[in-house]
Amino acid sequence: SKRMSEVPIKPPVEVKYTQLLIDGKFVDAASGKTFKTLDPRTGDVIANVAEGDAEDINRAVAAARKAFDEGPWPRMTAYERQKVLLRFANLLEQHNDEIAALEAWDSGKPYQNALIEVSMVTRLMRYNAGWADKIHGLTVPAHGPFHMQTLYEPIGVAAGIIPWNFPLPMYAWKVAPALACGCTVVLKPAEQTPLTALLVSQLLYEAGLPPGVLNVIPGFGPTAGAALASHMDVDKIAFTGSTETGRIISDLAIKSNMKSVTLELGGKSPFIVCEDADVDKAVELAHQALFFNQGECCAAGSRTFVHERIYDEFVEKSKQRALKRSVGDPFKEGTEQGPQIDEEQFNKILRYIKSGVESGATLESGGERLGDKGYYIKPTVFSNVKDDMLIAKDEIFGPVQTILKFKDLNEVIRRANATHYGLAAGIFSQNVDTINTLTRALKAGTIWVNCYDVFDAALPFGGYKMSGHGRENGFNGLLNYLQVKSVCTTL
Ligand code: NAD
Repeated sequence: SKRMSEVPIKPPVEVKYTQLLIDGKFVDAASGKTFKTLDPRTGDVIANVAEGDAEDINRAVAAARKAFDEGPWPRMTAYERQKVLLRFANLLEQHNDEIAALEAWDSGKPYQNALIEVSMVTRLMRYNAGWADKIHGLTVPAHGPFHMQTLYEPIGVAAGIIPWNFPLPMYAWKVAPALACGCTVVLKPAEQTPLTALLVSQLLYEAGLPPGVLNVIPGFGPTAGAALASHMDVDKIAFTGSTETGRIISDLAIKSNMKSVTLELGGKSPFIVCEDADVDKAVELAHQALFFNQGECCAAGSRTFVHERIYDEFVEKSKQRALKRSVGDPFKEGTEQGPQIDEEQFNKILRYIKSGVESGATLESGGERLGDKGYYIKPTVFSNVKDDMLIAKDEIFGPVQTILKFKDLNEVIRRANATHYGLAAGIFSQNVDTINTLTRALKAGTIWVNCYDVFDAALPFGGYKMSGHGRENGFNGLLNYLQVKSVCTTL
């Protein structure tokens, strides 16, 4: 494996693959259409990418179906499948610089963070590969003269629709468990970030994946995405993105063949700083919990609740920290925050900032764009935020921290849970009683205590309420891609 690069490969990185990947080959869209993927630093075109639509989805699903029904992938030993996935993990390591550079270029995230994400994805592939030959059913104690057992079978053709904020990790969360279980896959990357999915999928074929087992169709949501969600020959769909789109995808799945659906949707996660907190440490963690990845995180700690006793000090220090945050070119050493993904998200965030000011919150820092090209936004902190303000209710998905004040635990529990979302929550305290009370009372799929954004291939992740259903990662993640067959035998 290679050293972690200190001097990143810089754009223009060679863009090797821009076509659809169907049945193991790169091909043009049936319509011949392409779309532009842009550099968030400038808005300039990085590449023209084949634009898949319903006809291409049909071709991809047919290839995945054939590979599932007739091909070697579900039939080979789990050990053979495992070896392909492990070879792929090695290739990810060997090409980590190139992959991370392409990811940073297409998404605007700091190169160093992209490099860490490649290593997390490598670990995730190995984790799921490890499960491939350990998935098995049970012998069930029978009541009567029967032999009862369960068999775990791959669910079939699995579809994935993924967002632009973590293109590679989201790719891996869908593809790794599906392949480990013996499924075949059709994946639609986000239209803003189609490039790394194509690059790493080629590596997966180099690692020995049989044709048709993974198909990648760049394209738009209402065309390619909707065709995938409503396809009669897709057995399962896993989606990560907005709650709105999750509802559409769920609806299409139900109205077509009732395919199984996993949804990982939006959030408005509370980060609760308790009375006993070390303020400096809490400020830093709350800052990271919100501003990490340009604030473009489904799990962002986007409602910072702070106990009234330390509120003023916390606000002042959060403002100072935000003013010090280094925003700039993702390829410059030390950059903490790059540009937002695109003009639409950039404008949406600026509209939320305006609404925060108009609704009477105090703007402590930022509040405007940085520079005059690309989609950079200054780290923005609001204090005196009230629960009913739009900035405290909606998922902003940008570098905008909202700091709210609370008096006691019962109050903060009620307010933290007063949202349709339930993806994650953060607790900052050294008091065991407080930690236990909050951990049990908060309605969220992940609770981070004195840490934040810690993800692990082995730890399930997913939402309560309208943040989705189902869990990804860990053994729970594999269950999404398995059918349980019960067999009852007597002679
Ligand atoms: P989105 O949910 O619309 O897009 C995510 C994916 O869904 C993309 O691949 C897109 O092409 C696809 N899609 C869109 N419409 C579709 C449809 N009708 N049928 C099938 N697939 C469809 O997200 P967005 O528009 O890029 O961003 C809007 C907001 O979503 C953001 O501001 C943020 O609040 C939220 N978001 C959340 C996450 C997350 O990780 N939970 C990720 C990205 C965006």
